[in-house]
Amino acid sequence: MSLSSLRDQLNQIAREETTPDADLARQFLESPELSTTELLTAAGIPREKHFGREVRIHILNNVRNGHCGEDCGYCAQRKTAPEDVPAYADKTETEILAEAQAAYDSGAFRYCMVTSGRGPGPRSVERYADLIRKIKSLYPLEVCLSAGIVTDAALAQELASAGLDRYNHNLNTSREHYEHICTTHDYDDRMATLETMQSAGVALCSGVIAGMGERPHDLVAAALALRERNVPSIPVNFFIPVQGHAVERPARLSADYCLRVLALFRLINPRAEIRMAAGREIHLGDRQSEGLQVANSLFVSGYLNVRGSDAHTTIRMIRSAGYTIDTQNSDLPAQLEDLLVEAKSESATGHDTPADVVMKDMAQLRPYQKS
Ligand code: SF4
Repeated sequence: MSLSSLRDQLNQIAREETTPDADLARQFLESPELSTTELLTAAGIPREKHFGREVRIHILNNVRNGHCGEDCGYCAQRKTAPEDVPAYADKTETEILAEAQAAYDSGAFRYCMVTSGRGPGPRSVERYADLIRKIKSLYPLEVCLSAGIVTDAALAQELASAGLDRYNHNLNTSREHYEHICTTHDYDDRMATLETMQSAGVALCSGVIAGMGERPHDLVAAALALRERNVPSIPVNFFIPVQGHAVERPARLSADYCLRVLALFRLINPRAEIRMAAGREIHLGDRQSEGLQVANSLFVSGYLNVRGSDAHTTIRMIRSAGYTIDTQNSDLPAQLEDLLVEAKSESATGHDTPADVVMKDMAQLRPYQKS
């Protein structure tokens, strides 16, 4: 396809007059003639149309860590991981409620409870449902749960009835590439969970991890599968190479490639909340603010077992780049003004960017644990 025809198609897609097929989407990702700036500008059109210049902050809370019998090759908690991560069974209710409050105080739009393991049984679901009710009665936060495979409609309904706003279950990659990242469950298990939760009326959060040895068409296939399911929240993670990971350790992804992947997901899923998720600090470095041209949400305070930028640093980066925080916390704007004053005396990209992978320790994973 000629460059002018590629540009015409890109502009039509940016205006949402049409949607890209797999071949066209792959060309957007790979064409050396189409600059990253051009792609970001086009993908920024639906971002601003549906989300203005707002950014939503998400905070992850590992309510259970380690002890996992699955072998997801990208996960430090998998059964065969050589490096021990701090392991604990379920956090107490007091700890979880304290973390929900901290998330609300940081301006988080959504609070995500994440557990290790293949999937929850009836007793775990009963506990999560109780926690969801309590968190939502105390704070005007949306609550997301990421608890693994759920294919039992009754369990899904119990979570929906408790008021669960979203269920996270990432597709991670394409059906074709899935066997290279995990052997204990497959792509169809993942898709069945999405179907079960969606049928129960819970909105989905499902995304990918780029940089696990996949080819561009795998990312395109995953983006199209998420569009087909009408997934409203899509975390785009960039593989964080923890020592001993089972998937092939890639070279550091280039910032340009990461930005093009974010643009691709926005162009294929124009109305979805696209999250510049795990690994943004490591792979995008001081170009993270460019990612906000197409992504409208991110995580603060790190990821499951790896540290990342804190809320203060991230909010300063967002405000310095000219975006606002979409928060449920009406007290937050006053605090943001203080941060903005500080930000004006610093460079627009002067935020803390961990250059290397730093694992969380127990104190960071369980800040409210009573000794
Ligand atoms: S991603 Fe979840 S299911 Fe897979 S190994 Fe890690 S904790 Fe276990």
